[in-house]
Amino acid sequence: MPTVPPEDQKTAIQAWLNERWQNAQCPVCGTVGWTASDVLQIPAYGFTWQSEIRVTPVSSVMCIECGYTMFFNAIRAGIIDPADEGLASDA
Ligand SMILES: [Zn+2]
Repeated sequence: MPTVPPEDQKTAIQAWLNERWQNAQCPVCGTVGWTASDVLQIPAYGFTWQSEIRVTPVSSVMCIECGYTMFFNAIRAGIIDPADEGLASDA
């Protein structure tokens, strides 16, 4: 599956969540309203500027009321192709 173009990534994570999220109520404030981010990347532990960068791509979903934020692995959500260079292989 090819990587979803950046301009379509927010829509893709929202569609993926709509198929799976049974109770979309925020666990902190109880609001049912979320906004998705572009795909972000989390560097693996041990990263230094001299080492090879390994990252895990994630999409964040933030509560529109209190800001509580969750992260979803963008490979599991079908947004990022795991063959893309530099991604963690254990995603
Ligand atoms: Zn909230």
